Amino acid sequence: MSRELISIHIGQAGVQVGNSCWELYCLEHGIQQDGTVPEDRKQGDINLSADGNKDLNTFFTESSNGKKVVPRAIFLDLEPTVIDEIRTGAYKNLFHPEQLITGKEDAANNYARGHYTVGKELIEVCVDKIRKLADQCSGLQGFLVFHSVGGGTGSGFGSLLLQKLALDYGAKKSKLDFCVYPSPQVSTSVVEPYNSVLSTHSLLEHTDVSFMLDNEAIYSICRKSLNIDKPSYTNLNRLVAQVISSLTSSLRFPGSLNLDINDIQTNLVPYPRLHFVLCSYAPVISKEKSDHENVTVDAITNSVFSENNIMAKCNPQLGKYMACCLMYRGKIVPKEAQKAVAYIRSEKSKTVVFVDWSPTGFKCGINNVPPTVVAGGDLAKVEKSVCMLSNTTAIAQVFSRINSKFDLMYVKRAFVHWYVGEGMEEGEFAEAREDLSALEKDYDSVAENVNPEQAEEY
Ligand code: GDP
Repeated sequence: MSRELISIHIGQAGVQVGNSCWELYCLEHGIQQDGTVPEDRKQGDINLSADGNKDLNTFFTESSNGKKVVPRAIFLDLEPTVIDEIRTGAYKNLFHPEQLITGKEDAANNYARGHYTVGKELIEVCVDKIRKLADQCSGLQGFLVFHSVGGGTGSGFGSLLLQKLALDYGAKKSKLDFCVYPSPQVSTSVVEPYNSVLSTHSLLEHTDVSFMLDNEAIYSICRKSLNIDKPSYTNLNRLVAQVISSLTSSLRFPGSLNLDINDIQTNLVPYPRLHFVLCSYAPVISKEKSDHENVTVDAITNSVFSENNIMAKCNPQLGKYMACCLMYRGKIVPKEAQKAVAYIRSEKSKTVVFVDWSPTGFKCGINNVPPTVVAGGDLAKVEKSVCMLSNTTAIAQVFSRINSKFDLMYVKRAFVHWYVGEGMEEGEFAEAREDLSALEKDYDSVAENVNPEQAEEY
């Protein structure tokens, strides 16, 4: 049976992270930049038929003349410049022009413009295009949604679209969300805390799992581990693409110890609201250093638990883990992985503390295809890697930081008129902020071993 996934890339960050992901998927599967698949690859690990869920069919559809594959993806932005780069770039023939949707007027970093005024004009076209993609699937599993929370389109339009998806497809189709959180180093506007809080309020309700990609942390990983003085978005995005590729490799490559999206979702989310997940990846090493590094299963397993490698600015040792998935790639013997995980769980490691009710919360997957890197990119080619996804109360540190920044401006009602001017009610600010306070409290309750759904009674 087919289990297709549709990727939706919204706003500048969503689109540019998307570019890096599809670039990597194509390289991994030997697909050319125009979507053609060389004959020798067709007989290999690529299986264009729709039988079985571990083939290319999950992410690509075959063009009607059977000559190439086309991503099951939609790119959308309220203004044209970022998507115009795809239209004129190296991958212009990979996508069908109808998959690239743009408006004329941007969201000006304003959630309300993306959600209410400007966004309203484009929403029906987008929903229609997504419906067409969904109709081509025989067993649609769900959606992967990519966007930032700090801008206007990814945050405002993203939340509008998620609402629509919830209405049109119901709870049966998973909505997995990759959300870029803001960093002062690569910030584009002062109102990012407003947009982030408003957007997170919506993610709480409308997504099943949100993978947090915190630019602040990713920026420092690029600086420290890859020795890039001033990382660009491309540097950040190519690293993020490795995480997303690891997470989806089980759906694209066969393997005996593959973790399915459903496994990940079920294991990682013990309570519906606490669905924000931390990601980390190892090894992140530059080409210059690769000759001197010994990449062992023990070393990479330890690395993903280190604060320095987690793609969100928070200290996991100050929180408690609820669940954790480790997704290995490359030639890895299950015993080696078990040994490395046993060490992490042992008293000796002291790095990982689980909540009382989840003492065995580790889930491991192994995919035997080693990671691929972009030629001319920053990452060294390695034989094995691991991506960790974890649900820990430490993530509340990120929300707490954004909430404080929100409060500093909101107490003075600074910039609020820009939102009200676009038809948003001021009450929405207070409602979103209260919801995020409640979220912080939910994480606190779990850290104190109280069921967050009953926390009110305590
Ligand atoms: P939108 O087009 O209105 O949704 O606005 P953006 O996506 O540009 O949102 C701004 C936020 O996204 C800021 O926090 C930026 O630092 C971040 N951002 C923009 N482009 C990229 C990108 O290519 N990669 C990453 N990681 N972050 C980005």
